[in-house]
Amino acid sequence: MRRKLVVGNWKMNGSLAMLAELDAIAAAAAAHADVDAGVAVPTTLIAPAVARVPGFAIGAQDVHAAEKGAHTGCVSAAMLVEAGAVFTIVGHSERRHDQGETSQDAWAKAAAAHKHGLGVILCCGETEAERDAGRAERVIQAQVEKSLPENADGSWLTLAYEPRWAIGTGRTPTLDEISAIHSIARARMRHLVGDRADGIRILYGGSVTGDNAASILGAPDVDGALVGGASLTAAKFVPIITAAA
Ligand code: PEP
Repeated sequence: MRRKLVVGNWKMNGSLAMLAELDAIAAAAAAHADVDAGVAVPTTLIAPAVARVPGFAIGAQDVHAAEKGAHTGCVSAAMLVEAGAVFTIVGHSERRHDQGETSQDAWAKAAAAHKHGLGVILCCGETEAERDAGRAERVIQAQVEKSLPENADGSWLTLAYEPRWAIGTGRTPTLDEISAIHSIARARMRHLVGDRADGIRILYGGSVTGDNAASILGAPDVDGALVGGASLTAAKFVPIITAAA
């Protein structure tokens, strides 16, 4: 049985003052022992977030694949670990879109993060044009194929299916569409890493809210949620954690 996992992604939002939201979020996570939860905060907030809610999983939103060197503005896995992060997101569609990152980049970042003991949330997802063209399944298969590290297993890696057109738009696929993609992604992971794929959680992400969380989290092969906008306040995020319980 895979435990449900609910992860917030604050993106480029937040401040020291906003860390107060983590108090109730961490308390809700502690109150639901059958659910795993975490929040990926901006890099500058990792250390203060860890200090504020020790024991709650604070993560990063990206990591550089290299150990160190001439990469202005970037942050290595070792630096994230030193700051107190326990996981990082890689391959988020906003980075693919804004920074031109590829599935190969996501693969290298996942491998670097794992080498330093970070958990990894590896994102995949089709664009609206790809879905409209009937290519969503093939796009996900290709992204998983190119980005899943050979040694992936559920102890450190989680896959997140996030259709780009559903992120921040208030639109979501139907439950059947979500489950269909999750099942295709799991089959592809099984092809790549065998039985280890069965322990890898697959999160859905894209306009998850307190209103739709229970039905999405109850859909077949949905092991949790990656949540953007609705993770920014405890008032909106706690009901999603509760729905996962
Ligand atoms: C995300 O960016 O990972 C995300 C799922 O955003 P939102 O919940 O706001 O759609």
